[in-house]
Amino acid sequence: MCCESFVPDILPLEAAYIATFLAGIDRDLAFRIAAEGVQARVRSDGQTGCPLYRDESIYHCGIYEARPLVCRMFAFSAVRGKNGEPMFSVCRHGEYGLGARLLTGKGLVEVFGLEPPVIADMGSELVAIDPSSSGGRKALPEALAEASGLVLFLIGMNDRKDDDPDLQPPIPRAG
Ligand code: SF4
Repeated sequence: MCCESFVPDILPLEAAYIATFLAGIDRDLAFRIAAEGVQARVRSDGQTGCPLYRDESIYHCGIYEARPLVCRMFAFSAVRGKNGEPMFSVCRHGEYGLGARLLTGKGLVEVFGLEPPVIADMGSELVAIDPSSSGGRKALPEALAEASGLVLFLIGMNDRKDDDPDLQPPIPRAG
């Protein structure tokens, strides 16, 4: 339900991961995204959502194996409160028969037996892979279009035969 009205902001590294995954499962789509971009999905009621959402799939996410960090962790991870303690809020679509809807620190351990992962900590680990890109977070459509061109270029270079005298550019030119 979140994906229908949510477009994640993602890091260039996450975009490259998605672009590589898409190039592996649907090369034509990857080329189309690189050449034409991809638009957020607009529902009949005007809600804007993720362009990778698929109505026809029972899993809905078209890149489930390569989905961004926020999609993996939202509603399954904690945030830090102002004193630094982990806080876990049960999704409004979820069931909270365990008692309180918002749990913190010790209460989390009492209910779940352990503290859930903190999404900001996982995000820091992701940024640490390429610190120079930490300010490069963009909405998924824009980030994916940019990354697709780069990834397809690299795949094309990798696929080429060095003894081929008639090398073609790996990406079709627009227009
Ligand atoms: S990438 Fe997948 S899980 Fe994330 S918002 Fe899009 S459809 Fe949903």
